[in-house]
Amino acid sequence: MATYDVSDRSAIVTGAGSGIGRAVATLLAANGAAVVVSDLDATAADAVTAEITAAGGRATALVGDVSDPEVVDRLVAAAEELAPLRIAVNNAGIGGPAVPVGDYPLDAWRRVIEVDLNAVFYALRAQVPAMAAHGGGAIVTMASVLGSVGIAHSSAYVTAKHALVGLTKTAALEYGAQGVRVTAVGPGFISTPLLEANLDAATQQALADKHATGRLGTSEEVAALVAFLVSDAATFVTGSYHLVDGGYAAQ
Ligand code: NAP
Repeated sequence: MATYDVSDRSAIVTGAGSGIGRAVATLLAANGAAVVVSDLDATAADAVTAEITAAGGRATALVGDVSDPEVVDRLVAAAEELAPLRIAVNNAGIGGPAVPVGDYPLDAWRRVIEVDLNAVFYALRAQVPAMAAHGGGAIVTMASVLGSVGIAHSSAYVTAKHALVGLTKTAALEYGAQGVRVTAVGPGFISTPLLEANLDAATQQALADKHATGRLGTSEEVAALVAFLVSDAATFVTGSYHLVDGGYAAQ
């Protein structure tokens, strides 16, 4: 398997205690990055940090809510202590309740938009200047295939993920000349704790059937795309939105 060397730099991975973020953090560390493992859950963040260290990599855990701009600033400072910050994967996200628009609770709507969209904006504001000061870097926003198509009963999530694609394109246009690349990744339905906690087995199977592959994806399959996008193999890739969706959006 190809590896994309990212040594001599640090990487922030949010939501790195579980699922896709965990797979991204461990792969970037294996590829040489010093990783800030960011999560709400201290036990999970510590476990991933220990896993990376045991494998010979460098990592530090930072616990906090990425919808708090001060936490985002602390993530940048923690990364800079390890090595120049040149990678960020803004991955933390939540699903929200499964209800139609007319029944969607206002507090739940606000929370999903805050975590899935506003937190990524706060992150970009903090990360871009630090990367520009080092001559550049690469930022991935974790959108979803639901950044390009809708799905019933998930309006806040779909809205946030569509908006992330626009935010990604705009930031890429603004900072490309300073060497900062910004791309969005759109996973199909991936077997992770987020998915398993929200959907019963029958619903998961029905979703699997909607992918050309006939199955759900794995976190490692998403991490492989991210590892390419943040590496120096992708220096002409920016402002773009990359599906890793098993063919979900092909029909
Ligand atoms: P996951 O297994 O639930 O992992 C997400 C991690 O983010 C959890 O450890 C969670 O901590 C953490 N987190 C949540 N809110 C946070 C906050 N405000 N601040 C810091 N950390 C926070 O989810 P996943 O399936 O890997 O999803 C990761 C990303 O991929 C999300 O943005 C999701 O929308 C996106 N995605 C997932 C799928 C899929 O099918 N799984 C498909 C497309 C896109 P707690 O566990 O403590 O809440």
